[in-house]
Amino acid sequence: MSASTAGRGGPIVVAGAGYAGLHVALRLTSKLRNNPVVELTLVDRHDYHQAITELPRVAGGTRAADAVRIPLQDMLAERVRFVQTEITGVDLADRRVLTRAGPIGWRRLVLALGSRPNDFAIPGLAQRALSLYSASDAERVWAAVTKALDAAAVAADPERQRRLATVVVGGGGATGVELAGELAEVLPEVASGHGLAPGRPAVLLIEAGPTILAGSSPQLIDNATRILSDLGVQVRTNAMIAAATEEGFRLRDGELVEGGVFVWAGGVKAPDLVVGSGLPIGHNGRVKVDRHLRVLDHPEVYVAGDLASVTDPRTGHVLPPLAQVALEEGETVARNLDAELEGRPLEAFTFHDKGFVVSVGTRRGVADIAGITSGGRLAHLLKDAIEWEYRQSVRHLRGWDPAAW
Ligand SMILES: Cc1cc2nc3c(=O)[nH]c(=O)nc-3n(C[C@H](O)[C@H](O)[C@H](O)COP(=O)(O)OP(=O)(O)OC[C@H]3O[C@@H](n4cnc5c(N)ncnc54)[C@H](O)[C@@H]3O)c2cc1C
Repeated sequence: MSASTAGRGGPIVVAGAGYAGLHVALRLTSKLRNNPVVELTLVDRHDYHQAITELPRVAGGTRAADAVRIPLQDMLAERVRFVQTEITGVDLADRRVLTRAGPIGWRRLVLALGSRPNDFAIPGLAQRALSLYSASDAERVWAAVTKALDAAAVAADPERQRRLATVVVGGGGATGVELAGELAEVLPEVASGHGLAPGRPAVLLIEAGPTILAGSSPQLIDNATRILSDLGVQVRTNAMIAAATEEGFRLRDGELVEGGVFVWAGGVKAPDLVVGSGLPIGHNGRVKVDRHLRVLDHPEVYVAGDLASVTDPRTGHVLPPLAQVALEEGETVARNLDAELEGRPLEAFTFHDKGFVVSVGTRRGVADIAGITSGGRLAHLLKDAIEWEYRQSVRHLRGWDPAAW
């Protein structure tokens, strides 16, 4: 298709400075060197970007929360106007983003607001379980774990001590597996520091489906299950959480799973503000887009990252909410915004799957890359390397050379 030239110039607003939104802003900055009249605004509630893929380490006390908060001022060029505020809505008719700091007008809008934990309306879950979707969430999990161990250390009743020193993680996807593995690896030593026997803490991973890491290869699942078992994690599959109460997670069969700390890592959904915005919404509240990542019937709005419901034409399935998908979508959106400015045809989004890597504990992991499954130290090193490379790349993009693009 040919890009319309009618809408050249005028403000571009990127809502959300996560994996997708930050990349749109960084990639577009250099492109706009030839277009000094175009205003580029990035809006986020925080003045930092969060390396969310590293949160399980913060929640397990092995990484400082500030290490995963990367200040935006270290990455954004002066060309980008950054507005730190809460976005409260999208006014499609008048082309405005509604925020606590007042409305912000746009000619082109990029929605990259990510997702939030989905409690699937399980009674009590939102109130009783902690979540893991921000650096602050991860700090809260670690604080709750150490507080529970403190309480366990002074508990006279052994049964109460056992309960307090138990962490229960709901959801056996990548986040749940990474968190359970991390905690199981560090808790014995941490317990000793609290005057508890190293074997006292326990970690339970509760999964509703028949397997952890659903959708992965059987070999990867076997490898992860073996490492978790080696770390002492009690994995419970086919165990659906029906309610969260003061006492613990109540399973559908009536069993009560007790513990001192409860974390929910069972799924994500789109932020609430998208509902009622007039945007076409698909599964889990994600926004439906065309192959150029523009909202159906609203070509002036692009969506990228977890918020975008993008069907992979090769599989017919909607792409999962993953950082690597968000980054690739961010790049396509930046290229398409530039194409519109330059009057070039838009590019269709194609996802290039780089594989799947999950850390299981502080030293081991599992990986499926190009059809090859590995498990152990190498997979963990690979996860470390991906995270390191990501941090380098976002900082590097500030002075990034468009000629090489
Ligand atoms: C614990 C955990 C571990 C993960 N590990 C991996 C992994 O190893 N590999 C992988 O590929 N993926 C992983 N993921 C998934 C990955 O983090 C997401 O897919 C990715 O963050 C999506 O990027 P995004 O840009 O869509 O959203 P985000 O990165 O979440 O960014 C959204 C941004 O929007 C801002 N925002 C949202 N709402 C508002 C509002 N109302 N007002 C103002 N600002 C707002 C937020 O502050 C945030 O900066 C993990 C997810 C979690 C929770």
